[in-house]
Amino acid sequence: MNNNSLLSLTSEILAEICENLSPKDLYTLTIVCKKLRHFLWATSGFTQQIWRKSRVLMYSQDSISPPTGMCEQQYIWLKELGNLCHVCRTQVDKSDRHLFWEFKRLCCKPCLSNKTTSFEDLLQKNIPERLLSCLPCVDIDNIDNPSREIFEAFLVTLPGSRGQNPHYWTSDVYEAYREFNALNGNEREEWVKKKRAEVEELDRVISEIEDKRRTELITSLMRYTLSTVQMTQAN
Ligand SMILES: [Zn+2]
Repeated sequence: MNNNSLLSLTSEILAEICENLSPKDLYTLTIVCKKLRHFLWATSGFTQQIWRKSRVLMYSQDSISPPTGMCEQQYIWLKELGNLCHVCRTQVDKSDRHLFWEFKRLCCKPCLSNKTTSFEDLLQKNIPERLLSCLPCVDIDNIDNPSREIFEAFLVTLPGSRGQNPHYWTSDVYEAYREFNALNGNEREEWVKKKRAEVEELDRVISEIEDKRRTELITSLMRYTLSTVQMTQAN
């Protein structure tokens, strides 16, 4: 089937084909032509459903949905496919894959320190503490924590529990600051509540992912132990 015959299909048939391809194939299709890019990059419910079905089919019944505000394409990229630092675009080795769910970014360690600012420094730059209280941050002293390495950074630092050395993604803070400043007193209250709810929702999804991975890890460890015991007994 060439590009033209693929493009002459109805959206429904095209969707059915795409749902049975892997997310990696879908990413490849997005660079084939403008029409497919437009079709597959959409954030409509119709297109999100295609990526979701492809993800569930490909990654052992991965039924956890992305957190609110994150589309399937970004979720799959972060969770499974991404191999480039978001900032410098260098290839990130699998063993050095620092995924910061807090910032919804995959990046290398040097870029993390260049693009983030500490809590104290932001306060000194007159960013209100109230604003920082509802934005996600990373405890930079904790990024080499072994469980963080194993579970790819599933230690979200929630508002109110910032850890020892909290750092915020600088450009996100300033963007939020602009939004915050454009609001009046009452609106700010609502805005802070909404932002907090977003981070809590992110944490809920990440906990689900962490639980699932932990169960998988324990299961494979038990399988390995069992097979070692059986081999020892056989000898
Ligand atoms: Zn980088």
